[in-house]
Amino acid sequence: MNFEFTENQSMFRDMVRDFSRQEIAPIAQQMDEEGTMPDALLAKLREGGFFGLSFPEKYGGMGIDTVTYALVIEELSKASAGVSVMITVHNSVGSYPLAMFGGEEVKQAFLPRMAAGEIAAFCVTEPGAGSDAAAIASTARKEGEQYILNGGKIFVTNGSRAAFFVVLARTPGTVGHKDIHAFIVESGTPGLTVAKKEDKMGLRASDTVAIDLEDVAVPAEHLLGKEGDGFKVAMSALDGGRIGIAFQALGIGQACLEESIKYAKVREQFGKPLARQPVIAEKIADMGIELEAARLLGFQAAWLKDQGQPCTKQAAMAKVAATEAAWRAADAAVQIHGGYGYCKEYAVERYYRDVRVTRIYEGTSEIQRLVIARQLLAG
Ligand SMILES: Cc1cc2nc3c(=O)[nH]c(=O)nc-3n(C[C@H](O)[C@H](O)[C@H](O)COP(=O)(O)OP(=O)(O)OC[C@H]3O[C@@H](n4cnc5c(N)ncnc54)[C@H](O)[C@@H]3O)c2cc1C
Repeated sequence: MNFEFTENQSMFRDMVRDFSRQEIAPIAQQMDEEGTMPDALLAKLREGGFFGLSFPEKYGGMGIDTVTYALVIEELSKASAGVSVMITVHNSVGSYPLAMFGGEEVKQAFLPRMAAGEIAAFCVTEPGAGSDAAAIASTARKEGEQYILNGGKIFVTNGSRAAFFVVLARTPGTVGHKDIHAFIVESGTPGLTVAKKEDKMGLRASDTVAIDLEDVAVPAEHLLGKEGDGFKVAMSALDGGRIGIAFQALGIGQACLEESIKYAKVREQFGKPLARQPVIAEKIADMGIELEAARLLGFQAAWLKDQGQPCTKQAAMAKVAATEAAWRAADAAVQIHGGYGYCKEYAVERYYRDVRVTRIYEGTSEIQRLVIARQLLAG
């Protein structure tokens, strides 16, 4: 067993680390305060190829493997989880369904545009269907050579900036997961509108919106996979998505650890630095142990995906382990910073807010445990 990264993987990680330190970290606090992301940063991300990370090269992407992708997401997340969620949603659940299940003509038309930085979003969640994604009520009615979509989606990451939406909808009058279809819908299609922007606790640089669908006409060739494949399309995209969220959490957790080490070395109480107080040193050791253990699970899931092997259980395990380790790391980081950790002047205050959602989106910790238990108990 070899735990070393290839030269290419290390080079990618170092390049993204430098980019994140130079271009993202200096404005991360301001983006959080203003709840937005400057166009200049979006332009640099496009120029750097961040919107085509995992796309095949023949469609204009970089075609990097999942392990490299994980390294990229962790580095971006250390600087800004708001930026990294935009990139990971675009590269995984936003575009993967098209890359894996789209017809060749549609792929040739849309993937190069996505790789060049036209942003993709993923629309499953509805007011009545969160964890129970098979309960969606949005409908798709076949009319000649097109489908007519009606309904509404909530919590759509990238929604106000997106050029493309992966939308799940069902045949009218059906229930369960068998009659759900997935479509790729272009923004600007009449009837697709942004209804509301959420005012969130964290990830404030990222936009999360509700989408209305009113008689949205989608060409039949924009169906992903076959009729009835929608649930399968979403679930297979979520395996990769969950690996991305695991590494997003690890990036935030690692930033918490690094800030805590820095602070504990300079802050003195009782005549010596916090780092030399055994209780604080133990907190730092625990952060390191838990993050490293979760990282190994994450790389195992990424490696399995790269081998083309099933990775649903490992992706779910990695997501739970990483998001919960990062959550504890953020809590410890605020504690180590004392009262300053509760103030916006210190980045750990932002990390604490940003990390919270990683246990909720792309499948809550509770749902991941159901997925894991189902697989373990089936054996
Ligand atoms: C910032 C943000 C961005 C998001 N981005 C997207 C996106 O881009 N696209 C998209 O489609 N969705 C997105 N979501 C939605 C997200 O995936 C859902 O919020 C999540 O799946 C949970 O659904 P819910 O909020 O309806 O909670 P619910 O499903 O109502 O769950 C509430 C609580 O009950 C628990 N629970 C539910 N069922 C069970 C059960 N059977 N056993 C035990 N516990 C259970 C849950 O774990 C949770 O703790 C986003 C959400 C947020 C907050």
